[in-house]
Amino acid sequence: MNERSAEKKKLVSKLNETHDLSDSELKMLLESPEPDADLFQAADRTRRSVYGEDVYTRGLVEFTNYCKNNCLYCGIRRDNRQVERYRLTDEQIFQSCEVGYSLGYRTFVLQGGEDPYYTDDRICALTTRIKKSFPDCAVTLSIGEKSRESYQRYFDAGADRYLLRHETADDALYKRWHPEEMSLSNRIRCLFDLKDIGYQVGAGFMVGAPFQTTEHLITDLRFLQKLDPDMIGIGPFIHQKDTPFGHYESGTLEMTLRLLAVLRLMFPDALIPATTALGTIDAQGREKGFLAGANVVMPNLTPVSARENYLLYDEKICTGEDALLCRGCLEGRIFGAGYRMVSARGDRIHRSNP
Ligand code: SAH
Repeated sequence: MNERSAEKKKLVSKLNETHDLSDSELKMLLESPEPDADLFQAADRTRRSVYGEDVYTRGLVEFTNYCKNNCLYCGIRRDNRQVERYRLTDEQIFQSCEVGYSLGYRTFVLQGGEDPYYTDDRICALTTRIKKSFPDCAVTLSIGEKSRESYQRYFDAGADRYLLRHETADDALYKRWHPEEMSLSNRIRCLFDLKDIGYQVGAGFMVGAPFQTTEHLITDLRFLQKLDPDMIGIGPFIHQKDTPFGHYESGTLEMTLRLLAVLRLMFPDALIPATTALGTIDAQGREKGFLAGANVVMPNLTPVSARENYLLYDEKICTGEDALLCRGCLEGRIFGAGYRMVSARGDRIHRSNP
């Protein structure tokens, strides 16, 4: 064994045992060109020790692609005139959940652009209706930055979880990715409000987006240590041609998988999805994600006609492949990778109290 691979082995076993590394050790691990087999194996062992071979599903409903924000990387940013905008009716959203329920999904994620058409009253009414009809399911909202009062109202209406990726925890980088009216401090305020209210909270970041360095990624890991979220969603940045970042390189499969494994070892009991973006840059991306420590997948329940317009990035998977037409395919693919798709809410298992 050469010196570099011995060094990497040492880093992996330290991370495995202590769930942490120094900044310089993390940098070495993230930048090492040596194969990641040991890292993935350690992550998989950790995941199995907490979650066994279970993969949890979340039925995703992308209910609006209108957005008042203008994030430079995102295909549904308000300045993108090439997008055909859509909004699902309450009935369509509810029906998507019904389909999901019949497929065995016990969490529904309502995700969208920041669309003021869906007032707090509407979100609350919809949440309450879904919770009443499917009391054994969790409702997750992913509708962006709101006031603490709004978050409280959704929670009181029955919402269980909230996904809000912090995107990057570096202030200067955040500014380069977002328009002036947005700020990292507000995004962080949102995340701590959500936690404080009692939501199970998901944060996360993009991998390989423009101007991002290893140091920025380490800042993300440190921020997550402070927040201690229940869920951590990461995926490669993928350019979308009609955005200001349309000509930048996309993130890589390799770096995303490496970070998934590092996250699993740092946060043994976190819920970590193998994301759609990962499945987009590589046909086997999600399976590879499970092998690197991911334990959640989010099949798309959005009606196919609308799905074609929720294009955050180029080549996004938008056929029926994910759920509706082929739940069996998904189950088979998970099984093929060595895991088992389960029909359960899939709450976080706190490791101290498994
Ligand atoms: N409006 C909601 C939902 C955003 S879409 C919110 O603000 O939270 C969900 C995630 O897609 C985003 O958090 C972002 O990390 C990711 N995303 C957006 N554009 C992307 C791109 N071009 N490549 C990869 N991921 C992207």
